[in-house]
Amino acid sequence: MLIHENFNLQPHNSFGVSARSKYFSSVRSLEELQLALQYASERRSPIYVIGEGSNVLFTKDYPGLIIKVALTGVQIDQESGVVRVASGENWHNFVLTCMNAGLHGLENLALIPGSVGAAPVQNIGAYGVELASFVKHVKGLDMSTGKTFVLNASDCCFGYRDSIFKKPEGAKFLISEVTLQLQLDWAPNLSYASLDKEFYEDPVETPQRLFSIVCRVRRRKLPNPKLIGNAGSFFKNPLISVTLLEELKIRHQDIVWFDTDDPNIKKIPAAWLLDKLGWKGRKNGGAEVSATHALVLINAAKATGKEISVLAQRMVASVLDEFGIVLEPEVRIL
Ligand SMILES: Cc1cc2nc3c(=O)[nH]c(=O)nc-3n(C[C@H](O)[C@H](O)[C@H](O)COP(=O)(O)OP(=O)(O)OC[C@H]3O[C@@H](n4cnc5c(N)ncnc54)[C@H](O)[C@@H]3O)c2cc1C
Repeated sequence: MLIHENFNLQPHNSFGVSARSKYFSSVRSLEELQLALQYASERRSPIYVIGEGSNVLFTKDYPGLIIKVALTGVQIDQESGVVRVASGENWHNFVLTCMNAGLHGLENLALIPGSVGAAPVQNIGAYGVELASFVKHVKGLDMSTGKTFVLNASDCCFGYRDSIFKKPEGAKFLISEVTLQLQLDWAPNLSYASLDKEFYEDPVETPQRLFSIVCRVRRRKLPNPKLIGNAGSFFKNPLISVTLLEELKIRHQDIVWFDTDDPNIKKIPAAWLLDKLGWKGRKNGGAEVSATHALVLINAAKATGKEISVLAQRMVASVLDEFGIVLEPEVRIL
């Protein structure tokens, strides 16, 4: 195991911002992980875990050890549909592997950048599907005690872009392996309106077709982080009370909202709020709000992490001012 000092994090975050960490280690086995943890503990160094860095924003140098999880391996049981996958595997490749093995359900989550290990952290979701519906167990190491943990889906407290791993009690959990129950019979989830439209305009009823439509829609809508630094949607869609929605409808007759499981709570597309306030294309230094998607902040011209976070703070302040709604970042800001 190699520990790098004064390490350049620019290639390890999809915003492509400049930042360095005091120490950095890419761990390929649980033994290497233990050694890295020991190294940090001997130096009383803080630790932060990353996968592929597509949901983090470094606003300054990190004063401790960054552990990049590079554990690999996929075990598929085709009879039961149960799949065990190591956390360092690339998410999109994993979706493809499962589909090719005849196991289904993940097609709507194709092309989400990042690693398998980060997927339960924010309960990744897209086009009407969330990871939580497939999780059997999440396994890993509690870095505060050195003990292993195995959590079942309900222990993970999954919510909308949320889980125990984002809360203080799970913040020290390093995920090493995820076990999913996938579908043996394919039943496409077309609950997301635009997907439904695309699918029926050009119907070929196979999982491969759904997979390629999802990839096509995503490529059309979202900037490729390999070409333009970004982290996808910067903010979560806010949940508000029906009372607030009724108040807002008086001033904004065109407001868009979605029902949730709770009849008293409605979800508002953050992109609608930001678009309404004219945020598309606005800048702060090298940071910019995408001209085509108000929820996506981009590194347009050698932006610093600070410039991106200041732009995000201004967006939050303007939404609060106009709508009385607090936008919460989806991206982890360091
Ligand atoms: C263009 C684009 C589109 C996107 N679209 C979507 C989308 O449709 N839906 C969606 O949900 N997300 C989306 N995202 C966000 C991102 O892809 C996901 O959050 C993804 O799961 C991040 O994976 P990562 O490995 O890059 O995580 P990182 O950015 O490395 O880490 C994210 C968080 O997870 C933690 N973490 C990472 N690995 C582990 C581990 N092994 N154990 C414990 N904690 C860990 C980190 O500490 C950090 O808090 C998009 C991002 C981009 C750039």
